Formats: sequence, structure tokens, C-alpha cells
Amino acid sequence: MREGIHPDYYQAKVVCNCGNEFVTGSTKEDIHVEICSKCHPFYTGQQKAAAARGRIDKFNKKYGVQSK
Ligand SMILES: [Zn+2]
Repeated sequence: MREGIHPDYYQAKVVCNCGNEFVTGSTKEDIHVEICSKCHPFYTGQQKAAAARGRIDKFNKKYGVQSK
């Protein structure tokens, strides 16, 4: 990577409206969000379910199990 073209990178503390706090890499030091992975239904529900299905499919393929 070339130097000088990237902004400063912080470990930003993200605070959500639901009270959840987490740290992430960002170009800002502090971030306030209205919704996060803990309280957004897309992340709390659908995404985990999709990930779980993906893992099951992989398992079934690996061990030759036919999914119904
Ligand atoms: Zn939240």
C-alpha cells in the first residue's frame, strides 16, 4: 500500500441507541449509530439463519449427506 493516501485509522468505539457498545476499525474515533448488529433484525435474525444454513449445507456436502 502506498503511504500518504490513507486516512488515520482508529479503534473506534461505536455506541448504539440500544445501549450496545463495540469497538471497530474506523477513520473516526467515536461513532454513534441508531442500529447495530445486536438490535437490527436483519443481523439478529436473517443473517444468522442464513449462515447456519450455509454451514449445514457445507457439512452435508463434505460428508455426502443428501439434504432433503
Ligand atoms: Zn443496537
